Amino acid sequence: MFRRSLLALGIVSLLGATAAHADSNYPNKPIRLLVPFAAGGTTDLIARIIADPLGRELGQPVIVDNKGGGGGIIGAAETARAAPDGYNLGIATVSTTATNPAINPKMPYNVATDFTSIINIAATPNVIAANPKQPFKDYKSFLETVKKEPGKFSYASPGNGSITHLMMEMFKLSTGTDIVHVPYRGSGPALNDAVAGQVPLIFDNLPSAFPFIKDKRLTALVVAAPQRVPAMPDVPTFKELGLEPVNRMAYYGIVGPKNLPRPIVDKINAATRKVMQDPTIRKKIEETGSIIQAGTPEEFSKQMKEEYTVYKDVVVKQKLTMDQ
Ligand code: GLU
Repeated sequence: MFRRSLLALGIVSLLGATAAHADSNYPNKPIRLLVPFAAGGTTDLIARIIADPLGRELGQPVIVDNKGGGGGIIGAAETARAAPDGYNLGIATVSTTATNPAINPKMPYNVATDFTSIINIAATPNVIAANPKQPFKDYKSFLETVKKEPGKFSYASPGNGSITHLMMEMFKLSTGTDIVHVPYRGSGPALNDAVAGQVPLIFDNLPSAFPFIKDKRLTALVVAAPQRVPAMPDVPTFKELGLEPVNRMAYYGIVGPKNLPRPIVDKINAATRKVMQDPTIRKKIEETGSIIQAGTPEEFSKQMKEEYTVYKDVVVKQKLTMDQ
């Protein structure tokens, strides 16, 4: 009995030593960074800005892998289920960590217990934009038109239960308007259809929509940001219009599955912070209208919890459901 437990102890400490060794060797093979949305959206954009420099910093390639659908929860569930070895990371967004958990009755994971928070990369404004062939020149004409014709216009979102799906529902309730929801597998395909005129409106995160706004292939109508975006000085914020609850930003951070060892978390956090100090990278992110975050794992975890609480409150108070 005594010998057996000694033997067991030996095995346990051997396993412990191997795990510690694995941590100090980390990373010794390529790292997968799962983007839970299709290519061409802001999640993809942010992931691709940091993947190469982060790989250089860590000494192993960081490979972006898109897995869209379900408003981000299909891809996020895959990250939650992965082995906690640091080789399967994912981008966490407001859709995967706050809005879907707040509204979706069939969540495949629990944000509070199934992920390890690593770092928040950036916060971004969100924007309602229209196809230029539509009768929406600015916010005023947009509001007047949609008020006059309830249910006539539709808007593209990056998915069911996504951040801009919920934000549009909040907007509709506060303005008494009726705009039909058309969910996509991410903002990439949603933008394609809005630009092609298949769907008259889109509610997107600013970074992915911005190139189309700049080229006048989309008309920005209203933005969710602390203040007007300098590159779009004529576009009002929701806050200015008296719609403060809709004036919420998106975020993009890195998470791993639960039980990711702290040394690995610290290594990825430090490497990402280092990348974010590079003026070229900072510029690339800030040019999209985003605000760099790059704090501690605890700060990101707190942010995710706070965002969830805000949306949960809205869902309960306004009795929002997935079918809207
Ligand atoms: N930005 C997402 C996309 O890439 C969708 C919304 C989000 O969660 O921020 O399609």
